[in-house]
Amino acid sequence: MSVNHTQTRPYRGRFAPSPTGPLHFGSLITAVASYCDAKSKHGQWFVRIEDTDIPRIHQNSVSHILACIECFEFELDAPILYQKDRLHLYQHAIEQLKQQQQVYACQCTRKMLGSNAIYSGHCRDLHLDFEHQAIRVKVDPHPICFQDQLQGHHCSNLQQDLGDFVLLRRDGIFNYQLAVVVDDALQGITHVVRGSDLLDNTARQIWLSQLLKTPSINYMHLPLAMNKHGQKLSKQNLAHALDLKNAPQLLQQALQCLGQAPVELNRPNVMLKQAIQQWSAQQIPPHMTLRGIYQ
Ligand code: GLU
Ligand code: ZN
Repeated sequence: MSVNHTQTRPYRGRFAPSPTGPLHFGSLITAVASYCDAKSKHGQWFVRIEDTDIPRIHQNSVSHILACIECFEFELDAPILYQKDRLHLYQHAIEQLKQQQQVYACQCTRKMLGSNAIYSGHCRDLHLDFEHQAIRVKVDPHPICFQDQLQGHHCSNLQQDLGDFVLLRRDGIFNYQLAVVVDDALQGITHVVRGSDLLDNTARQIWLSQLLKTPSINYMHLPLAMNKHGQKLSKQNLAHALDLKNAPQLLQQALQCLGQAPVELNRPNVMLKQAIQQWSAQQIPPHMTLRGIYQ
């Protein structure tokens, strides 16, 4: 990839929702934290719709995301980008990895893989034709370590924990890990602020970034938002879709969950400006439990 490698890159952050369901309160927390962190450091902030997994995309979710961005009055520094329009770029990255002999075709069926979480490398040396097969990237036995701004030092060994992983599925869908790395690099993203549910993905992304020789990124994984039963809020357990009638109240609660100094109820844009001025990532608590309307 041809990416600028200058040492001091200007802060660029992003919010990158997958439109597999409407945005919920946990998504709002991520959006607000990435936005305030970027803007408080005079950085830019982008929105990217991660819609590569076409069978799982809901059109209504895309419109809900757009409505949320507008209603909460986030100020974007570039037009929203859609991954489905950028498949050629992910293909290009795969071609680069083919040149480097870092990828191979895998013909294993789901049945053959069974419930094994770790891929054995069965097809690594079979040199199969790439056509109509899944494509896996080779990993190596060295641990990948990074310093997360909130979660501290993290290491993982991809070979032990995962094995060679899929970048392109047999049905032609690019894996999220690849698309994220390619787009973060091409958009010049310097800081990723997102939920801790993605902490485990980070080593894979760092590995791909190393192979594609893209600049490294600062990570901040937010504590997950739980309801009072200790369940993670997600689209799967039907967390409420954000109700845009209550945008100022929701914003106030999101900032409260993030441990920030209170902001007065007002137009969202005014509230966000106050939140940016007061923003302190150090105040984010290690656990976020939501009460009130999110029980
Ligand atoms: N699209 C991913 C999600 O909605 C987040 C990607 C990221 O922030 O790296 O879970
Ligand atoms: Zn295989």
